[in-house]
Amino acid sequence: MTFKSTPKIELHTHLEGCAPPAFIKQQAHEKRLDISGIFNADGGYAFRDFDHFLKIYETACTVLQSPEDFYRLTSAVLAETASHGVIYMETFVSPDFCGGGDLAAWKDYVAAMETAATEAEAKFGITLKGIVTGIRHFGPEACKPAAKCAVETFGGFITGYGMAGGELVGRPRDYSYSFDMAREAGMPLTCHAGEWGGADMVKDTIRDLDVVRIGHGIGAISDPDLVSEIAEKGIVLEVCPGSNVVLNAVKGWGAHPIAKLRDAGVKVTVSTDDPPFFHTTMTAEYDMLHRTFGWDDADFKALNETALAAAFCDEETRARVAKRLEPAQ
Ligand SMILES: [Zn+2]
Repeated sequence: MTFKSTPKIELHTHLEGCAPPAFIKQQAHEKRLDISGIFNADGGYAFRDFDHFLKIYETACTVLQSPEDFYRLTSAVLAETASHGVIYMETFVSPDFCGGGDLAAWKDYVAAMETAATEAEAKFGITLKGIVTGIRHFGPEACKPAAKCAVETFGGFITGYGMAGGELVGRPRDYSYSFDMAREAGMPLTCHAGEWGGADMVKDTIRDLDVVRIGHGIGAISDPDLVSEIAEKGIVLEVCPGSNVVLNAVKGWGAHPIAKLRDAGVKVTVSTDDPPFFHTTMTAEYDMLHRTFGWDDADFKALNETALAAAFCDEETRARVAKRLEPAQ
């Protein structure tokens, strides 16, 4: 059984992390850059663990050097994602990888991504919105220009602010300046937490950064009081089971806490994170949720409704996507 044609919404992807390996290879070839070390014998991305993954990711990003490259990247990613039934996607984009945090350069990159997104929407019926992220392991100071870029381009394509990268670097409060800046501009907030940092990191992120969504958040499962708090506050978890399994954040699909969190009343959603890195697609995620936990069409419908309600987009977009979720008459 496959859920390939089921309409899907995903909220947690990293744009460069969605790049098909063949696309990155082609970019490297055109620019005469040797990044062959990041690929395995089968042509996929090769890494040992999470820290090594971050290094490989940053190496892949070195071939993306201009707004035109990001236009092509966005087009390639949306064609691939739409083929798995995804009708709405949010993706993390970082000024650090798009002009090095310079605001004028960043605006050109955003324009290029938005153009590609508009074209893909007309062609494939997929809507893309961008969430600007600071990169945690670059440090709190580096996140400030990222937040500034976020605030200056908020509206239209850019819909929120968040933080990605190495979760164990610093504590959430070290990054509060950037989150405060984005919140004061009216931007909705999300932050990676509880992929590696456990329940305490999730707790501190909610308390110190006042986010409405958490990237992953699965570490919360070890603290029943925290799980209740997340459920009561209606904080949405952007869960990426396939990513967690491949990176060994959990011991296999059967041990993944997504079903327990959902049963405890937590609003969970499902995303691919960096699909080609983690050998996954949204189809594969749905198929594995079906196989592991018996989730079926009704569960996926509810999952998508949760995701759409938690999407950072404007209301007009939300209404448009809701229509696409309705079964064809
Ligand atoms: Zn992520």
